Amino acid sequence: MTVVTNSERETRQVGFDLAKKLRPGTVLAFYGDLGAGKTTFTKGLAMGLGIDSEITSPTYTIVNEYETGETPLIHFDMYRLTSADDLFEIGWEDYLERGAILAVEWSERVEAAFPKDTVRIKIEKNKDTQRVITITGIEEA
Ligand code: ADP
Ligand code: MG
Repeated sequence: MTVVTNSERETRQVGFDLAKKLRPGTVLAFYGDLGAGKTTFTKGLAMGLGIDSEITSPTYTIVNEYETGETPLIHFDMYRLTSADDLFEIGWEDYLERGAILAVEWSERVEAAFPKDTVRIKIEKNKDTQRVITITGIEEA
């Protein structure tokens, strides 16, 4: 599925809508440059999961956990990691078993850690405020 958004709000809406289609335990792997909209998308996703706290980028913490929604959200930023090994060191396998949605920014770096049924979200900057969002691995109704 590919959608084009023309504002931050529209990208949040795509994330919000996707939340309803995800099973607990799903890994969402984001691909896209700095400023593409990965964190913005995750904010909408969190809202769709019923999480009421503010979502901030886990660039420095590597992982942020939100437990207040219907399904927990665990938000990773792999920017400072170099390989899947680093991810296993922070307990990736335990996270996979939490029944949470695992949203992973900078997935390129840890591709080897992802399960087969990972949902992939590629966000490309087109023009100033336009983004092309391609979602694969989701079952379409
Ligand atoms: P990333 O996490 O990929 O580095 P962010 O979500 O933090 O990116 O930042 C995206 C930036 O791009 C924000 O400043 C946002 O306002 C801006 N922006 C402009 N147009 C869009 C759009 N259509 N979708 C998402 N973000 C957009
Ligand atoms: Mg980000």
